[in-house]
Amino acid sequence: MRYIGRFAPSPTGPLHAGSLVAALASWLDARAHGGQWLVRIEDVDTPRCIPDADQRILQQLATCGLVPDAPVMWQSQRANGYQAALDSLITKGWAYPCGCSRKDIEQAQALMGHTRERHQAAVYPGTCRHGLNGKAARAWRLNVQRVIDDLKLATPLTWQDRLLGSQQQDVAKEVGDFVLRRADGLWAYQLAVVVDDGAQGITHIVRGADLTDNTARQIVLQQALGLPTPSYMHTPLVLGENGEKLSKQNGATALDMSQPRLALRTAAQALGLATLDDGASVEHALAEWTKAWLRAPRPAPR
Ligand code: GLU
Repeated sequence: MRYIGRFAPSPTGPLHAGSLVAALASWLDARAHGGQWLVRIEDVDTPRCIPDADQRILQQLATCGLVPDAPVMWQSQRANGYQAALDSLITKGWAYPCGCSRKDIEQAQALMGHTRERHQAAVYPGTCRHGLNGKAARAWRLNVQRVIDDLKLATPLTWQDRLLGSQQQDVAKEVGDFVLRRADGLWAYQLAVVVDDGAQGITHIVRGADLTDNTARQIVLQQALGLPTPSYMHTPLVLGENGEKLSKQNGATALDMSQPRLALRTAAQALGLATLDDGASVEHALAEWTKAWLRAPRPAPR
């Protein structure tokens, strides 16, 4: 089987217990399938990036024995690819400029009587879909319904997660015309991730469950750009002591890399893998978990 997997951290801080779970899961899945494992540094959201966090992440991975099979890709060097993708969407009539400020969007929402919120961001009401009405272009958005109609995509869009099972989302209604290029000129995560997964020939995506909700949007974009849809698996999140998802944003501490075996063991436990005795080397532990990976007990689908 052709298998190219990846781990795609944002360098907003060093790896923490939660991101190591995603890294280990994607590495084990690639190894267990005899595939390649790549690392891509997702540094498009420059205001959130921390200097040297990328090097620190790569070092942490290496200390844990997780070494990519090809040179690392940095999204900050990929602007040409993103521009070409946006241009092709514009040419097809699937992307349009948007002149709305956040306030404009909220006002239009209120007028339409919906207050629907999605992760604090209101679903875009489509104000600029048919023209800027004299406003200056700020962002670029995907005309989701147009892509769905032109390509005859099913609504709701259904996709399979290897762990969570069948998933579905009505992207036009539940998410709306999402941003491809932001008002501040930065490339949006959705466009960058889809273009790069395509460019790197990624066949299998294994990542944290916090990203599950993005998948339907990414599948629509893959279709619009004529890219294949990879297989998806979203791994359980590691919760902090307060029961909330561990993330760099809520202050998850960097992993203690003086004890890589311990860090790996905690990550392996979160993935339902057996703990090995304390004397096992990192290499031995990784080899054992690779053997066990495809038959590991998985948490029940949520
Ligand atoms: N860069 C994203 C993050 O760190 C992950 C993107 C992905 O795996 O698709 O949350």
